Amino acid sequence: MYDTTPEGRAGTAQALWAQGARVFLRPRATDSAALRVLTRICPGGCFKFDVEDRVTFAPATCTYCGTCLSVCRRTGEVVWEHPDAPTHP
Ligand code: SF4
Repeated sequence: MYDTTPEGRAGTAQALWAQGARVFLRPRATDSAALRVLTRICPGGCFKFDVEDRVTFAPATCTYCGTCLSVCRRTGEVVWEHPDAPTHP
């Protein structure tokens, strides 16, 4: 179970990163409101709007805070892939 408290989220995210987990944005037909919010609240500035008003993701400045996973938990648009887990389409 994912700990959604700020302390638990940060600790879990850092632990996942240390284990080799990486953040991915899934292919999707539209961008949810939750995903669009990440263009404003992602501390790494990894989510931006392109010229067609679609959300793009560039993880180079990711801080692995876990916010995106928490915010998009219900939409499934953001996934953290763990090297030991099956890959997502
Ligand atoms: S883990 Fe944090 S910094 Fe990295 S993409 Fe998600 S919200 Fe942005």
